[in-house]
Parts: sequence; C-alpha cells; structure tokens
Amino acid sequence: MHFDTLALRATHHPDPDTGDVVAPIHLSTTFARNEANELPANYTYARPNNPTREALEKALAMLEGGTVGMAFGSGQAATMTLFQALRPGDHVLLSTDAYYGTPALLEQVFHPWGLTYTRVHMNDLDAVKASIHENTRVVWCETPSNPMLDITDLLSVSRLAHEVGAICVCDNTWATPVLQRPLDLNCDVVMHSTTKYLSGHSDVLGGALIFKRDNEFTQRVRMLQGLSGAVPSPFDCWLVSRGIKTLGVRVRAQSATAQAVADFLDDHPAVEKIHYPGLANHPDRAIIHQQMNGPGAMLSVQVKGGQEKALQFIGKLKLFARATSLGGVESLIEHRASVEGLTSATPKNLLRVSIGLEHAEDLIADLAQALR
Ligand SMILES: *Cc1c(COP(=O)(O)O)cnc(C)c1O
Repeated sequence: MHFDTLALRATHHPDPDTGDVVAPIHLSTTFARNEANELPANYTYARPNNPTREALEKALAMLEGGTVGMAFGSGQAATMTLFQALRPGDHVLLSTDAYYGTPALLEQVFHPWGLTYTRVHMNDLDAVKASIHENTRVVWCETPSNPMLDITDLLSVSRLAHEVGAICVCDNTWATPVLQRPLDLNCDVVMHSTTKYLSGHSDVLGGALIFKRDNEFTQRVRMLQGLSGAVPSPFDCWLVSRGIKTLGVRVRAQSATAQAVADFLDDHPAVEKIHYPGLANHPDRAIIHQQMNGPGAMLSVQVKGGQEKALQFIGKLKLFARATSLGGVESLIEHRASVEGLTSATPKNLLRVSIGLEHAEDLIADLAQALR
C-alpha cells in the first residue's frame, strides 16, 4: 500500500452502529463493568488507555511500520518516558546536533539520577564505534538534525548499536514517515513530536514513540506511560489523527516548495551557507538517496554579516511568521540562537526556516525583497 492510502486506512474507522465516517472523541475518564464485574472492552481508566488514544497509537504504528505505538502529551514527554525506562549506570549516546531539549533532559534530569551520556558526530562512524560501550543502552539519532540538518546513516549506526545490544532510537520529527521510515532501516524505536508535521496545523502539542518489537523494554515504557501519565487528551489525539490524513500531500507539497526556496537562497550573494538535504552538491547525498524519499521542508540558512544582518533580514519579511516550532501549514522563520539561549552552540547568523503551504513564488519574492 502507498503511504497516502495507508494514512487514510490507519485513521478511518467506520462505526458499524452509527455509520460514522469520522471517529468520535471518547471523553470518558472511566469505564463501567457489568453485573458480573466484567469490562466490555479493554478500558478501565483513561490514563492507562482510552479508545481515542488507542486509535491514534495504532495509526502511528502502521505509518512507521512498527508493532506498538504510544502517544504522549508532547515530544519531550515521549523522550522523557523512554529515558525513564533506563536504569542508573546505563549510558546514552546522542548526536552532537539534536533538538536542544533532548540533551537538556539528559543533563538536567537524568544525569543527576545516574544516567551517563556522551555526544558524538553521528556521521563519523569511527567516533560512534569508539563511543559505544558495554553499558550503552540507547543510541539516539536525529536525522535530518535540528538545526544543522546533519544526516545520520541509520543502517550503519543501528548496526553499531546492536553489536553491544543497545537500541537505536531515531527522532523522525523532521523527516516524517512520508520521507523516511527508520524502523525499515533497522532502528528499534521512532520518536516524534506530533506537534509538528503529524498534526500539521500548529494547534496541538503531542509526542509519540513507535516500537519495532513488543518486547520487555517496550512493555516497561508502556507501564511508565500509564503510571506517570504524560499522556495527551482525547481531543489532542483526535487532532493528531486528523492531521495524519493529509500528512502525505502536505509534506510532499511543502518539500517541493522548500527545494525551490533552497535553490534560490543557495545562489543569493547575501547568503553565506545553506543547510538542506536537497542541495545537488550535498556531501551526504548517497545516504540521503538511500534512506529518504525527499529532502523535506526544513532548511537553515546562514547569512553574511552575522547576527545583526540576520535579525535585520527577518525583520523585513512579510509572509513568514517570526516564530519557533515547525511543520505547520504557515511558513515560519526563527533566529535559532536567540531561542536556545546563552548556552547555544548554533551559529549566530543562522536562521531556521519551516516552509508551509504558501506558493513558492510568493515566498521567494518575500525573501528576495528582505535580502535586498
Ligand atoms: C519540537 C521537537 C521536539 C520536542 O517536541 P515537543 O512537542 O515540543 O515537546 C523534539 N524533537 C524535534 C526534532 C523537534 O522538532
């Protein structure tokens, strides 16, 4: 089945009793037993499980080709719950470039609780090999990464992780399952911020984990999900399920526009460097070709003249919202170092761009007038 058909099959459950074409939202927090004290279905209480969340979780598993999906109240809640399943003394290997909240959780929360972690350039396979130890339990990749769009060879890194019995996790938020399916590339777990492309309209916060196998580790994360309750509301689950129905068309259209924008910026004299998987001379184009179906709709651009020129440039834009986040239908641009704060290692002249569904010619005209 093609992705678009799968996305509709996964989120469409006609109700035999009512004929509903669209799934209802189950708001009940509790579920009644019959006279014999039996439950009619597998639901007891909404924290461990409820029908609307379960529908989303099954859809997520189908989209990524996994066996178990779990939905959370945010991407960070998903990441947090996975790390909570580890034990003191375990080691995590994380890429140098990653969503800033992932190392922040490791440093601020889990390091004091006894997890150790190391950061490494995931595209340097010798360095990855040298950084994986006997107690390494998780190798955490993010590709393309935030905000430098570094590419990780998922097949090679997952092989190195498996040599010591570690699991390979991929934050697939930027690529989405439309463009990249890490579980097909031997990763064990996919993480998503569903706040981004999966919901797609900048109006819901959510996260997900999708597991290739239903094993002891998966069950431990499931236990923590129900016990700690960092779970999304039924309405939030329903919004993410609705977003998934149009994920394929949105991501392909946004990706095509991003390619046009990247080509325009790449040739522009005011631009120092552009980071985008679709560039014809990209150093990792062989890996990109092997593991992605398209370049995606995120790009970062470094302008000439440092932070001052970067801020002047975005101040003149009329069609881009100067806002953090990504993956919605409206184009966003942000000065990443300002968002990440004083500890940020992001170049001061870097602007991160999330391309939406506006017409490419209008976006390019806006960028051209602001760079003039
Ligand atoms: C936004 C984002 C996250 C965090 O997700 P939240 O839903 O904001 O908690 C994690 N990883 C990546 C790549 C992201 O873009």
